[in-house]
Amino acid sequence: AKSSGRNGVAFFDPQMQAQADQRAMLTQDLHTAIRECQFQLHYQPIVQQQSVTGVEALLRWQHPEQGMISPAVFIPFAEQTGLIIAIGDWVLMEACQQLACWQQQPELRRFTCSVNISSFQFAQADFVEKVVAAIIGSGVNPEGLRLELTESMLATDIAMVQEKMGKLQTLGVSFSLDDFGTGYCSLSYLHQLPIGQLKIDQKFVRNIHTRQGNLAITKAILALADSLDLDVVAEGVETSEELQQLKALGCRSFQGYYFSRPMPANAAFAKIMQPLNV
Ligand code: C2E
Ligand code: CA
Ligand code: CA
Ligand code: CA
Repeated sequence: AKSSGRNGVAFFDPQMQAQADQRAMLTQDLHTAIRECQFQLHYQPIVQQQSVTGVEALLRWQHPEQGMISPAVFIPFAEQTGLIIAIGDWVLMEACQQLACWQQQPELRRFTCSVNISSFQFAQADFVEKVVAAIIGSGVNPEGLRLELTESMLATDIAMVQEKMGKLQTLGVSFSLDDFGTGYCSLSYLHQLPIGQLKIDQKFVRNIHTRQGNLAITKAILALADSLDLDVVAEGVETSEELQQLKALGCRSFQGYYFSRPMPANAAFAKIMQPLNV
């Protein structure tokens, strides 16, 4: 078999094999993670003027051997294996429970918690029921719950999307369009669906004060949002230069390391309650 070389049937690529092993291991570990509750939510403040108006819940996986694994790594994987459904259910319930707890503070009555929804989750026939179960189970006021969707998941069956979003909107849930500008370019759904907020992707925010292309795109998104009466959050704000440029363009809500990294619930709460000096 050794001599069969590139034309032989016994072709063996150690690198591909290693990748396959790694995938099998990760799948196994994800099953365990769900069973043993190795997930956590961190919360990143969303800032408007001097105060934190809400947070985005971001999933963290504390792997027993490999340490913290980024959602950018394991979410695509969880989607391929279908495990995203169980993980997504947990995220919804956990975020709603945390928000319900924060809502006890009179100052936080209008506070929002944004939750990322995978396209696989949203496409499930019982998605609305899952959200309703998390609302009822946690006792959260649904007015504080904001679901982050992406453009690609809306470009499917518009009637189905309208029905799901409509039912949730009736309960008080609101919707944000994540990574805006990076996905499909059809804008027609923007006024056909109950979307209240656009999030400008961090790739357009990066060095917006020096990069003409990013400046032009961000300006166009802000103008579009203004004419459709949508809120806008600029994501991934890292420097005061970026912030000043965004403010000069009329953007009023921001999220990014410049203000705060995502943090565990207790630390996020301290940040939320403390006035910012920015
Ligand atoms: P996203 O929804 O676009 O979330 C924003 C990402 O940008 C987060 O990465 C956040 O930590 C990071 N970020 C925030 N501010 C800054 C900044 O100033 N600079 C830079 N460089 N990055 C910043 P994270 O937490 O690693 O999450 C990555 C992606 O994983 C998310 O992107 C989202 O698509 C997905 N994700 C996270 N949590 C969940 C979840 O609960 N469910 C689902 N389905 N997806 C999730
Ligand atoms: Ca998001
Ligand atoms: Ca985003
Ligand atoms: Ca993203």
